[in-house]
Formats: sequence, C-alpha cells, structure tokens
Amino acid sequence: MNILILGSGGREHALAWKIAASPLTHKLYCAPGNAGIAREAECVALDIDEHAAVIAFCREKKIDLVVVGPEAPLCAGIVDDLEAAGIKAFGPTRWAARLEGSKGFTKDMCKANNIPTAAYRRFKQAGPARDYVRERGAPIVVKADGLAAGKGVVVAQTIEEAEAAIDMMFDGGLGARAWEIVIEDCLVGEEASFFALCDGETALPLATAQDHKRVGDGDTGPNTGGMGAYSPAPVMTDAMNKRVMDEIILPTVNALKKAGAPYKGVLYAGLMITGEGPQLIEYNVRFGDPECQVLMPRLISDLVPALVAACDGQLKSFDLRWHAQPALTVVMATRGYPGPYEKGSVIEGLDDAATVEGVEIFHAGTKADGSRVLANGGRVLNVCALGQSVAEAQARAYRAVDCIEWPEGFCRRDIGWRAVARENKS
Ligand code: AMP
Repeated sequence: MNILILGSGGREHALAWKIAASPLTHKLYCAPGNAGIAREAECVALDIDEHAAVIAFCREKKIDLVVVGPEAPLCAGIVDDLEAAGIKAFGPTRWAARLEGSKGFTKDMCKANNIPTAAYRRFKQAGPARDYVRERGAPIVVKADGLAAGKGVVVAQTIEEAEAAIDMMFDGGLGARAWEIVIEDCLVGEEASFFALCDGETALPLATAQDHKRVGDGDTGPNTGGMGAYSPAPVMTDAMNKRVMDEIILPTVNALKKAGAPYKGVLYAGLMITGEGPQLIEYNVRFGDPECQVLMPRLISDLVPALVAACDGQLKSFDLRWHAQPALTVVMATRGYPGPYEKGSVIEGLDDAATVEGVEIFHAGTKADGSRVLANGGRVLNVCALGQSVAEAQARAYRAVDCIEWPEGFCRRDIGWRAVARENKS
C-alpha cells in the first residue's frame, strides 16, 4: 500500500515508525514530517490545511490510505473531503470529530446516554455563568467550548478564580472570543488515558497510558502539551478497562451511530478514576501526543491492517497483541518552553543515545540541516524505552537522555514517578 501520514510531531514519528515496519507498506509519505520522520518516510511539503492539495497529491501518488495525526484537520473535515474524493482515510468525519471539537456536544451526548461524567451546565453569557459558579461553589472547572490546544480549561480552586476564567474566555483571552463555555464539577481521583479503535459499529480497546502535563519535576509549573508518559496506566486493571469499554466507549460508539455520525478512528478517553469508578473528563479524536509514543513500541501486531479494518467497518473479529512490558517516554524540550523559546540549536549524540537497550527516539520538532539535526519547536524529542518494569524503562530512557548533547534543551527527571513508587511498594 502507498500510505500518507499527515502531521509533523512525535506522534506522527511513532506512527511512521510502526507503519514503515509493516510488510503491507510499499511507499510511505508524511506531510509535512520532520527530520526523524524522514528516516521512515518521504517527507513532503504539503499544506495540510489545503484539502484540495492533499487530494491532488493522493491521486498523483496513488495513495491507498491517509492516516491523520492531529485534531485540527479532522475537525476541519479532511476525512470527509478525502472520502468524497474516493480516498480511504483513517480518522473521524468532521461531524464525529465534534467529540473533541465541542465540549458541550460531548457533555450532552454523555447525559443523553448515561455515560458517567461530571455534572455540568453550558453557557453563552458571562452573567448566568457567574451565578451558576456562585451557586455551585468551588472547586469548579471552567472550559471553553472549542479547540484551544489544551489551554481552554481552568480548574478553579476559588469562586473568584472561576469568575476570572469566565471573563477571560468570553473576553477573548484564548485568542478568539469563546462563544460558549461549559462549567462542570471538579472530579477527584487518578487520571488515566484510554485508547480504542472504532469502526463506526464497534470498538477494540488498544491500551492505556498516563502523562505528565506540568513542565517541572514533581508535577509543578505551567501546563504543557505533555512532558512524558508511560503505558500501561497502573490504575487501569482488567476490571476497570472492562468498565470503561462497557460504560463509556461502547455507549459512545452506539450513540454516534444512532445520531448518523458513526465514529471511525481512534477514540482517546481522558478519564478520572474516582471512588465510584471511571468518569469521562474529555474525548480526543486522535492518538495522544506523547501517549502514542508509548503505545506504538508496545504493539506487537501490524498496525496497518487494524487501521484499514477501522476504515472498512471490519474490527469486529479483530485482535491486537501487545507486549506486557511497560513503555515510558521522556520529552526533551527547548529551554523556555512552554513560554517563548529559540529555534535552530544543534542536537548531537542521537546515534549514541539510540544504542541504549530498549530505546527508540522519536522526533517531535526537529529540522535537518545537512547531516545536522536542529531543534525546530518547543517539544523536540521523545526518548522512549521498553523495560521489564516502569523503573527499568525509566532508567533506560534517562541513560539515553544523558547521551544527548543539547545544552539548549531540558527535560523532567522524574517521568513515571507515580508508577515507580507503586512498583517499589508492591
Ligand atoms: P481537558 O482539556 O478537558 O482534558 O482538561 C485538561 C485537564 O484539566 C484534565 O487533564 C484534568 O487534569 C483537568 N480537568 C478537566 N476537567 C476536570 C474535572 N471535571 N475535574 C477535575 N479535573 C478536571
């Protein structure tokens, strides 16, 4: 098959690495890609917001499957446009992608189908939203309705903080003015990410993960896109996984099918595991980044037939095999991230780092300059490792990190601390 991946981050590098290893893959392209992806695929300078250009490329190169990495093109309807042009594409349609694109849509869908999630109300104006917050009390969570690249959520510890968040969102503090917000109760428990493949009719559980969102050790400092992750999430026992499938994932697939917007692609449920069981915090309509980077090394089976089966509605009798070993990834970022940072610093030592046992390095934001690799973003590298335990995966990943010479970069030194502490206790 000729396959085109859309995207340029660590998630897309992990997908490219796995797809390139498939015997079914004849020629692999990635648009726009990065310096690491270029080792697995031919990178092409396509603007993925230009759907017509993507379609023209697919026709010219006889592409059999397009795999869409990020959420923005999905919410913009790239799968609808590719399918209308007769090109198979992995990912949800624009209508189904509202599970990520609109928090209000998802909350209403949960309510109508008894899917466990925090109690909430939707608001189009600040006044009634402020009244609701005062009535409900703190802590309370304020969310902008649309895509906000992870910045549209404020977990307010006080009523004043919640009111400030409401004003900020309606006043355009997130770039554009929020046209609607959701206010919901604050859930207490341990967070975990659950991934399932869906084909419109049914769902196949993939694996679970946990990530570290804060920039600093000990989960301190500002939020980021994710500074590291590990899989599986120790809190997700077999019994909990079954509850998530039965109470959250399958009812969602059924609800979207009934609503005439069957969900195909990866469904990524952000969960809070509370005393009463799993609650849905949010849905994402694609693989997580950096969670994908710890899922792909654990997948033994070929990914390509699974992606095709999801597109073709054939997942029912499908099975995937996974390594029992955990995987862990450490994100290396440019100093300054998540604030302003410089691009163009030189990264050395990558080949040495890659020789550490069990290690795989995915590029998140790099650019090739002849034989040199330059940093080209905030999050730049994902240093991933498999191990017999999370502690071993962690030790291997940091051994590789220490081989990398990049004074302008930094990483957290404690990725996986919660899981390692759990291992030490048992
Ligand atoms: P979201 O973008 O909806 O995933 O929210 C970002 C983060 O905010 C989540 O990963 C949680 O840590 C936190 N969060 C969101 N909603 C809630 C909630 N209802 N209760 C507690 N924490 C929440």
